[in-house]
Amino acid sequence: MKRIVFCDFDGTITQSETFVAMLKYFTPVLAERLLPEIYAKRLTLRNGVRQLIQSIPSVRYSEMIELTRSQPIRPGLLELLDFLEAENIPFVVISGGLQGMVESVLNPFRNRIQAIHAMQVDTRGQFLQVHSAYESGTEIVAKAQIMANYNADQSITIGDSITDLNLALASSIVFARSPLTRYLQERNKPFIPWNDFFEVRDCIHDLILSRSLEQPLRTY
Ligand SMILES: [Mg+2]
Repeated sequence: MKRIVFCDFDGTITQSETFVAMLKYFTPVLAERLLPEIYAKRLTLRNGVRQLIQSIPSVRYSEMIELTRSQPIRPGLLELLDFLEAENIPFVVISGGLQGMVESVLNPFRNRIQAIHAMQVDTRGQFLQVHSAYESGTEIVAKAQIMANYNADQSITIGDSITDLNLALASSIVFARSPLTRYLQERNKPFIPWNDFFEVRDCIHDLILSRSLEQPLRTY
């Protein structure tokens, strides 16, 4: 069976939302105007995030990467990666943030990660330009579409927010933190609550042993 773990980055691997913090820091005026519009769903993520990123001068890109590098990571990631490697289960990161930011944080773990999917940035012009191979109607990075390309028999998703919802709904097993938990409850999608990657590792370990990964999980 082809079993793959798909993991969000912001607020999941990192303890805080680095991407939103970055936008507020590098494009404060526009962020104050557009972020509430995005949260209120009057503006799509695709349109809003593109406007925000493309308002940042390219010369500030290296500073943006520096700001992220020191972000604290949720405990147990290394141990989870060790376990998955031993079990031959690929670990794929899917982020709506910037590829460079994600890679700067995950650099020490890079050889253990099958792939990192995020927004690409072009710094050749005066202002940053964003690109993604997986744009959909409302998202720059359509996470569920990326997952579908892997053709996993069993997909295990780890996430924390509404940007992981479509991914979670299409997954066999979901590890969710708040506020993703609330959206899943509203849709009666079963999930496993988690606090750190030690818990995720132990839970996947138990599920594999008990072969209950094939069974539907109860909702918490
Ligand atoms: Mg997140």
